Amino acid sequence: MSHETVYAIASGKGGVGKTTTTVNLGTALAEAGERVAIVDTDLGMANLAGFVSLTPDSTTLHDVLAGDASIDDATYRLADNIVAVPSGTNLDEYAETSPEGLRDAVEALRSQFDYVFLDVGAGISHETVLPLGLADAVILVSTPEPAAVHDTKKTIELTDRSGGSVAGLVLTRTHPDGDISHDDIADRLEVPLLGTIPEDPAARDSVYAGTPLVVFEPEGPAAIAYRRLATTVTGVEVPVPADDDGDDETDNESTTTVAGSASDDDGREAAHDDVSSAITEAESDP
Ligand code: ADP
Ligand code: MG
Repeated sequence: MSHETVYAIASGKGGVGKTTTTVNLGTALAEAGERVAIVDTDLGMANLAGFVSLTPDSTTLHDVLAGDASIDDATYRLADNIVAVPSGTNLDEYAETSPEGLRDAVEALRSQFDYVFLDVGAGISHETVLPLGLADAVILVSTPEPAAVHDTKKTIELTDRSGGSVAGLVLTRTHPDGDISHDDIADRLEVPLLGTIPEDPAARDSVYAGTPLVVFEPEGPAAIAYRRLATTVTGVEVPVPADDDGDDETDNESTTTVAGSASDDDGREAAHDDVSSAITEAESDP
């Protein structure tokens, strides 16, 4: 059975959780045994590298788009089943890039991985619009704030114009007592609500730790929500990590209640637990 492979993670407003979503969707699927590539297509404001403790002093997507390197040279192994393609942070190099090369880079990754997630820059520049049309489906990310929701409309419009299609909306940094209904937000935008990710201080802590949230605090509310989202988006059954810290959440099957997808799995244990150390020692994978 074929499934969608390339997803663009996009937003109208910056700082709403796109990179967090890219890293954690990717890591959750990698833990489930899928081969995943995450790509920083936010060429001018790269931050994926920082999220995963990569400090590439060598090849990045900038070099690939400048025609100076192959995509394989810019591909870094993060952990079992997951690689990242970071963008450079050097603005002079950025000036040399030609976003058109992105199409070939994405197609090369498509042929090698089960899932490819493109972390797209906010706004409406050319480099933002291009990935929306290259992806099989666009995942919109917004907080419930009116300004962010409003800007999401532009991303939907840009997706339509670039020939892409919207998979749905992920609302991040939600609060239980928020006064706007999440379903209403999605209804107003006329897109499906794929999931909500609660506000969770572990999200920021995980960045400082250089470790994806789903590994850093696997039993936390945001990590649980990201695993649930991974299942909703792809249909892949994402294992619930073994609870080895002795609290009382063992056998809690809260990650398996996913609206609109298989919800009666039995919460298999994670196949491995050393993702976090591997990520901080990420190496080039030529
Ligand atoms: P973007 O890529 O859209 O600019 P980021 O993923 O970098 O957004 O997130 C912006 C900030 O919000 C980061 O400091 C991140 O740690 C924080 N953040 C993201 N998701 C959450 C969450 N669910 N709870 C709390 N903080 C979050
Ligand atoms: Mg980002």
